[in-house]
Amino acid sequence: MSLDVRTVVLLGSLMAAALALILVCAQGRYARLLRESMTLWVRGLVTLLLAQVLFGLRDVAPDLLSIVLANTLMAAAFVGFALGLRRFAGVKPQAWLLWLPVVLMAAAMYVLTALYPNYLARMVVFSVGMVWILALMLRPLVGSLHRGGPVGQQVVMVSIIAAITIILVRMMVLVLGPAPAAGLLDNSLVNTAALAYMSVAPVLITVGFLLMCNERLMDDAVRLSTLDALTGAYSRRALTDLSERALAEARRYRRPLSVLMVDADHFKQVNDTYGHSAGDAVLVEIMSRLKASLRTEDFVGRIGGEEFLVVLPATPEEEALRVASRIRERIANKTLVYGREEIPFTVSIGVAERDPGEANIDLLIKRADDAMYAAKRAGRNRVFAASAINDVPD
Ligand code: GH3
Ligand code: MG
Ligand code: MG
Repeated sequence: MSLDVRTVVLLGSLMAAALALILVCAQGRYARLLRESMTLWVRGLVTLLLAQVLFGLRDVAPDLLSIVLANTLMAAAFVGFALGLRRFAGVKPQAWLLWLPVVLMAAAMYVLTALYPNYLARMVVFSVGMVWILALMLRPLVGSLHRGGPVGQQVVMVSIIAAITIILVRMMVLVLGPAPAAGLLDNSLVNTAALAYMSVAPVLITVGFLLMCNERLMDDAVRLSTLDALTGAYSRRALTDLSERALAEARRYRRPLSVLMVDADHFKQVNDTYGHSAGDAVLVEIMSRLKASLRTEDFVGRIGGEEFLVVLPATPEEEALRVASRIRERIANKTLVYGREEIPFTVSIGVAERDPGEANIDLLIKRADDAMYAAKRAGRNRVFAASAINDVPD
């Protein structure tokens, strides 16, 4: 292949410089955690730029600079990326585990350049060190798709896996094959491909990382606009949209659908006795016990101060009553420990199933609300079905 390795490395460093500049310019618009991880990333890119300039000076600058320092900086650059990803994912930096290969590599490179010059051994040291760091970059990504959406994360993961593969392949080929004539700037296919990819990989990984930041930003914006900040339940507006859609679907497929109106009992008293922030904690606890009693397809919205609406798709009234009883018990059976206080709390629940042909979610919610008020009148901490109160006049 007639690709000039020096040109490829030079192009790589220009791209790293451009990306660093883009990241610095974009940074201001992101939240603190993202800004911090971007700063770590930019440091990685600048380090990479230095490393690539030094690589490009091979045979021109002294070996201590163009070999020992260049390789060490290259490894350090990827440590910067790894630290950035860890900050992004909110996991421990494990700095010593990341810096250890850099230190070892620097020492080995010095020995194998100044004392016992050996290109092949240096290449093995570099490959092992880089694979070590790249594997640590993967770790916070593998197995868990972090909040913010999957595309950017997948770009980063695939690029890293490709880098690990190509480094290992090059190492195997050079170790097992005939001795390379020209060292680093050797024009053999595998060496050129590896160096070309390693010059492009930081660009791919950085684009993926930027995408991760944007996906996180969008995710947070959607979250803010659709979820209630205190409890994480859907906001009233989001709930209206979602439940209308669920009702339309139930009509189309002729499936049942039930809703539960859940209202905290004597909540004003909870606030008056334990304070408003204790009241808030009770609301968060109610939400968490609600969630624990539901299936994944069910959803909860906070539609008033201490009122939640639960929507149960494909659920007839009978089953909804069972769910409601489970929720009521789960809430009544255990107090909330708040500081030194133990707060007992209960809820009243009204249950309603959609009538065949019911097209209006508000009417369904109204029937659940009426059932809930009937439960209140009957003494609270109870579950009432709308069908059971239809005949009872107010
Ligand atoms: P009932 O059993 O009849 O439902 O009595 P209640 O006291 O729960 O009902 P009421 O509607 O009289 O009072 C609701 C209280 O909920 C009043 C309000 O201060 C409180 N509240 C509403 N939103 C919040 C909130 O976000 N946090 C806290 N701590 N309290 C809230
Ligand atoms: Mg109440
Ligand atoms: Mg209320």
